[in-house]
Amino acid sequence: MALDPKLKEHIAARVRYYRDLGIFDLYRREVLVTQPPSAAQDEARVGRAFSPASAGSAAEDPAELLRMIREDLGDCTRCVLHKQGRKQIVFGVGNPHADLMFVGEGPGADEDEQGEPFVGRAGQLLNKMIAAMGLRRDDVYIANVVKCRPPGNRTPEREECDTCSPFLMRQIDAIAPKVIVALGAVAAKNLLGLNDSMASLRGRVYDFRGSKLIVTYHPAYLLRDPRQKGEAWKDLQIAMRELDLPVPQKNPS
Ligand code: SF4
Repeated sequence: MALDPKLKEHIAARVRYYRDLGIFDLYRREVLVTQPPSAAQDEARVGRAFSPASAGSAAEDPAELLRMIREDLGDCTRCVLHKQGRKQIVFGVGNPHADLMFVGEGPGADEDEQGEPFVGRAGQLLNKMIAAMGLRRDDVYIANVVKCRPPGNRTPEREECDTCSPFLMRQIDAIAPKVIVALGAVAAKNLLGLNDSMASLRGRVYDFRGSKLIVTYHPAYLLRDPRQKGEAWKDLQIAMRELDLPVPQKNPS
């Protein structure tokens, strides 16, 4: 059956997008249709069939989706960070079914060493922040905008963020958390596509890919300026309200 030109264009754009990500193997799912499908059914079906996330019977399982995203990432050389001293790719860690996801900037030395985000001093503070919310680290999912350590812990360049972040978007879509907390300006600006100051980015609830997004300070910044912990706690309280978690009155810092 000839495809509608608009649908054809849609599929071509989708395929180009996946090629840009380095994904070349796409699978078409068998569809049981006894009547000729309507145009809407056709579009929905092809949209699903051309999603790598849908390739396979366990496609709805976030853990399986994350596994497939990691596989697509491979031994990534898509941006210059692959050749600037990274020891390993730091993909992400946590509960694939998490209601709460934290997104940071990029791995530091400890993370590069251990292959897990937020395991150094900043990670210990993040663990305390998670505990203050009444949760455990295992309850949440943690990832970064870039998955390779920028040398000397420099801020990742725009191009590096743009190259790596499609994988983060796929992680977010796979987990579909209720709430995302962006840790620091780099994460917030990259996720939201805004170039505002932290002062104007914080204190709001954004709609983002079906989740609520809240901006707070990066734990590394809070280690440098502990006076801001009270402000960060206010941000976490916003997240807790969005998650329907009980909010204690006492500042846990
Ligand atoms: Fe690939 Fe991301 Fe590492 Fe760049 S930072 S090499 S895009 S995994």
